Amino acid sequence: MKMSQSKINELLHEPGCEHNQNKGEKKKKSCSQQAQPGAAQGGCAFDGAMISLVPITDAAHLVHGPIACAGNSWGSRGSLSSGPMLYKTGFTTDLTENDVIFGGEKKLYKAILEIKERYQPTAIFVYATCVTALIGDDMEAVCKVAKEKIGIPVVPVIAPGFIGSKNLGNRFGGEALLDYVVGTAEPEYTTPYDINLIGEYNIAGEMWGVLPLFEKLGIRVLSKITGDARYEEICYAHRAKLNVMICSRALLNMARKMQERYGIPYLEESFYGIDDVNRCLRNVAEKLGDPDLQARTEKLIAQETAALDVALSFYRERLQGKRVVLYTGGVKSWSIISAAKDLGIEVVATSTRKSTEEDKAKIKNLLGNDGIMLEKGNAQELLKLVRDTKADMLIAGGRNQYTALKARIPFLDINQERHHPYAGYVGMVEMAKELYEALYSPIWEQIRKPAPWES
Ligand code: SF4
Repeated sequence: MKMSQSKINELLHEPGCEHNQNKGEKKKKSCSQQAQPGAAQGGCAFDGAMISLVPITDAAHLVHGPIACAGNSWGSRGSLSSGPMLYKTGFTTDLTENDVIFGGEKKLYKAILEIKERYQPTAIFVYATCVTALIGDDMEAVCKVAKEKIGIPVVPVIAPGFIGSKNLGNRFGGEALLDYVVGTAEPEYTTPYDINLIGEYNIAGEMWGVLPLFEKLGIRVLSKITGDARYEEICYAHRAKLNVMICSRALLNMARKMQERYGIPYLEESFYGIDDVNRCLRNVAEKLGDPDLQARTEKLIAQETAALDVALSFYRERLQGKRVVLYTGGVKSWSIISAAKDLGIEVVATSTRKSTEEDKAKIKNLLGNDGIMLEKGNAQELLKLVRDTKADMLIAGGRNQYTALKARIPFLDINQERHHPYAGYVGMVEMAKELYEALYSPIWEQIRKPAPWES
């Protein structure tokens, strides 16, 4: 996969993404703005590529660059594995000034050989960084020679940080899979009910709350791209009958290109909230085109929702009428509103950062006329919003945790750093429990009392 300006432009203007289509020429420019050096907080393209690929658990992920590139992003996402743990080991060529002057190719080659000998991975992904791209190391050539030497796939991922944002990096991660992995092996057998899940990274083990549902219906998840994935399953992803994109437009390029290359249709679904899970199961069953499967799906939905009503009744009683401000990005900005509504919680404001036009329309529909849509916000604005709307709680990413807690506002972490799975029916119960515990913690009564010296 060559990193060229035309490749960057192609991925920035992904035709499957109506966020791009709906933008006028003027706004398209902002889509293609390059990241500013030193302003990659929130993730550079390299970081985005790693987010997409590191959940492949039995592969080694080698960062070709200064040690800080690997260190900055390492372990920030909570993708879990049901088996191999190699993906949790950080590998880097740890380039020094000397390598910048004389080149880092030999060091990279040696590192690949050493990883193979010491760790026996199924494959090695090698990530470019700003430094290795700038000094002109030919990573693709090194990976090719190393692959021939060690006999396992060595995949170059050319998404140095300076080319753009984390989202762009996600797409480059998808391109690496398309160019080097998908279509390189065949599954033992196929069924008419084989699907791939794309863009689900098994954060906090969320996927494990959803896979049993597909299993009960007789739907086989052929390839998980990439949460809790093994390298081999991605090799035969091209044999699936349907791609299901989960809560993420980041790998939309992958779904669209698999449709073009292999004729696999795709759906965009969410696993958050009862309605969304129901809709996802229904849509998948419908798309697979088997009336018997559709009937079984309806039966399963009825059973699961009845059981869920019982499991949620304690929490619904206590959460009914609570008001929350939601500050997250992309698809979660509406999918979590729908989950909150299922619990009787009113979302009074939400952010529309990274949301597409379609996301915004859904938010508007869910929030009604009084709901506030926040395009951008800092800590002060968020606190003011919580005060103005008389919200009981802030639901946001871990970065805002201390903003809320210092202002004595109950808080729930909803982003990738979270430790609790909220997807699927079981995730709804977990979310209700977490919301209840955050709101009803005895700490609030104590810390809201005036300090002894104030009274
Ligand atoms: S790849 Fe570039 S932008 Fe990203 S962490 Fe490394 S130096 Fe920073």
